Amino acid sequence: MKAARWQADLHQVRQLRLFNNVAVSSIDRLLKEFRACDVEAGEVLLSPFNRNHYLYLLLKGQFKVYLGSLDNQPVGTLSAGDCAGEISFIDNQPPSAYVVATEPSCVLRLHCASLLTLRQHSPQLMHNLLELLCERVRQGNRLILDSEQNANVDTLTGSFNRRWLEHVYQRESTRCAFSGQPLGMLMLDVDHFKVYNDRHGHLAGDYALCLVAHTLRNQLRPKDSLVRYGGEEFVILLPEIAEGEVRRIGERLRCSLEQIGSFYSPAGVLPGVTVSIGMAQMRPKDSLQSLIARADQALYRAKQQGRNCIS
Ligand code: GH3
Ligand code: MG
Ligand code: MG
Repeated sequence: MKAARWQADLHQVRQLRLFNNVAVSSIDRLLKEFRACDVEAGEVLLSPFNRNHYLYLLLKGQFKVYLGSLDNQPVGTLSAGDCAGEISFIDNQPPSAYVVATEPSCVLRLHCASLLTLRQHSPQLMHNLLELLCERVRQGNRLILDSEQNANVDTLTGSFNRRWLEHVYQRESTRCAFSGQPLGMLMLDVDHFKVYNDRHGHLAGDYALCLVAHTLRNQLRPKDSLVRYGGEEFVILLPEIAEGEVRRIGERLRCSLEQIGSFYSPAGVLPGVTVSIGMAQMRPKDSLQSLIARADQALYRAKQQGRNCIS
């Protein structure tokens, strides 16, 4: 980063979010605390490995924000008018993110020692700083929520994953046991899927798995959980459904897939697939493992009985 020559331009200053609604009469005094700097493309402005003493206001250019590692996908983009470093500049801790210039950029830099001067000269500027901090907190919360939700979802099919199954089983088994309601489970496995992959390619297999997930999900209630348990195995948890009804639902799901002779995919028209299904019903003291073990045994029997059936 190199000191830059910058002629204060009121119009440009007005566009900086930190200066929003700040009285024109105090701008000159406030700007004395800032230094303009040029930042090269690829230069790291903030890093969790370096303490930060500066608040940066972006005059020109663009920066990307990365969490954890620079190899991760960026979680945000900063452009002219935005602010960077506002948290670490105040609490004097290392920044929580990397901020990297993606193009030659120009910033106004403020040392934390100048915070007192700003406070004395412009309550409005301090108010703007608080607003920017609130926005960062909300962005952080959104990221936590997104990553928590993503951690429960299988990326290929959009179904829940095993992590979610463990969580939802604790909840639903307790709830159903408490209210004396049954809890059913279906375990489904795509038939001869290895042959399908060999014949049509792995990508086609991926589309077939998406078709299965989509077809199943469309027929379930919001309180049911469709989980991709393994490669071509799915588990469905059916709260408040008694044994006879579990069979009826399983049969309906099996039939709906059997009826799809072919389907359109980005890889062209592909043949459908069938599934074999094992059923189990929660018993007192069942753990998720013991319930799954019974559904898996039933699934094995369905395979033995010739596949494309329910046991
Ligand atoms: P069965 O009827 O006995 O279940 O036979 P199968 O061929 O389906 O069973 P097997 O366990 O031998 O093969 C499962 C296949 O599923 C092998 C594996 O390559 C494929 N598979 C697992 N996960 C995926 C995936 O994410 N995408 C694709 N395309 N194939 C997958
Ligand atoms: Mg299998
Ligand atoms: Mg299979």
